[in-house]
Amino acid sequence: MNQRINNLLNNQLANWELARANYTALSGVRVKELDVNGILYKVQFNPARIVSSGAKVDARSIKERSCFLCPANRPPVQKGIPFEGHYDILMNPFPIFPCHLTIPEQAHVEQRIVTRFGDMLSLAQLLTDYTVFYNGPRCGASAPDHAHFQAGSKGFMPIEKDWHRLVAGKVADYRNATLWYLDDAPRTTLVIDSPDKDTAAALFGIVYRSLPVSSGEEEPMLNLLTLYESGRWT
Ligand SMILES: [Zn+2]
Repeated sequence: MNQRINNLLNNQLANWELARANYTALSGVRVKELDVNGILYKVQFNPARIVSSGAKVDARSIKERSCFLCPANRPPVQKGIPFEGHYDILMNPFPIFPCHLTIPEQAHVEQRIVTRFGDMLSLAQLLTDYTVFYNGPRCGASAPDHAHFQAGSKGFMPIEKDWHRLVAGKVADYRNATLWYLDDAPRTTLVIDSPDKDTAAALFGIVYRSLPVSSGEEEPMLNLLTLYESGRWT
């Protein structure tokens, strides 16, 4: 699958001027590294991202715009690879990562994780060159009305390696999965580590149901990263 995706990306770069321009611009992005409480943060100055990061996500703006993740509204030049019969794996034309994918559900349904976490684990197992991520509908998703994951080049985000040294303690063992908590304020990170997909998903369900949900919200405010390596999901 990684090879199929490489082919897709090369094909899109050859045929899609907007995507090509934005991936070319990525090499000129300025990066500043900050140390916050001993934790490395990489800050990108990436002007091409303003289209995504500046997208209006209030209810009215969402209602009035045509959804850019719906198949009918995507530019004809944007090609995809079907996943599990109801997602499409697409190149993200506004990249943060050297390789950046968006994986929308084919139907226009709201961004919610609870019924899709298992899909996220399957995706991570399939996309071993990538870290898969999920932004909650009020936690940075630029299309909170259309369910989607993203995936970026594995190893790009400092936390993927750093979390091991930031472990502050174990919350619990659950079957053959472990739930850790990190000392990484101002983030508040929990880590699930398991060689078994179903156990990881069950443990995620317990954490999900334990997190507070603010009034008017549909799910706890969270962002998720998932990667699969050496037979384990993190
Ligand atoms: Zn849509």
